[in-house]
Amino acid sequence: MINVTIWNEFIHEKNDSNVKEIYPQGIHNYLKTFLKIDKGLKIRTAVLDEKEHGLDDQLLSKTDVLIWWGHKAHDQVQDRVVDKVQKRILQGMGLLVLHSGHHSKIFKRMMGTNANLRWAERGERERIWVCDPGHPISKGLGEYFDIEMAEMYGEPFQVPAPDETVFISWFEGGEVFRSGLCYKRGNGRIFYFRPGHESYPVYHNKDVQRVILNSIYWLHKNKDEGSWDDDLSKLERKTPIEEIQIKGSHVDHGDKK
Ligand code: ZN
Repeated sequence: MINVTIWNEFIHEKNDSNVKEIYPQGIHNYLKTFLKIDKGLKIRTAVLDEKEHGLDDQLLSKTDVLIWWGHKAHDQVQDRVVDKVQKRILQGMGLLVLHSGHHSKIFKRMMGTNANLRWAERGERERIWVCDPGHPISKGLGEYFDIEMAEMYGEPFQVPAPDETVFISWFEGGEVFRSGLCYKRGNGRIFYFRPGHESYPVYHNKDVQRVILNSIYWLHKNKDEGSWDDDLSKLERKTPIEEIQIKGSHVDHGDKK
């Protein structure tokens, strides 16, 4: 069983009648509706307005894969919650960042860059090419799939070179974008997946749904996979591996030990 938490800032769906029509219960609940068909997933949701944005310690410690959707209110996410999410990723939790989540605090934190990109909102057709047909995230897809109406995201996408590029998008207006990127950070995996602009029904697309489901399975770290303990308090090597003559003087490392 994979414990999945879907996080959504949940603002556009309440304030914009067009978005509300596409996602009446919010994007988080729409994602939950198609994901819950898979009986291997246990799905919870959390939103910005809740205490600690719904991401309390208990929920985070039980979450294997966190899905992140945000657009308008990235700055309202408390830094202490971002700290906790980062810690869980380093411990081995998977993170799926969708669409405008590229500018979320957690994604920028994990990338170490501003994650800027070129964009335009004009309902362009998007063709998503599969660059890595053997990758678990592209399982069941053809050579490519199309999204009828999409917000364009274009290069340069200011992120570090990914470990793997699963998808590249081409847009009707001529631009291209690296739209499916895999990263490893600490013990955890991160997948950035571009589709999902809230004013078009992108998550109604069956291929997009398939990618989201596949990515959850790729992001989930099985218990039998190894992991390392990055507890700083245990990292000083008290006794050298080889017998050596200790030289030089000591400084006080204070709390940083
Ligand atoms: Zn958008």
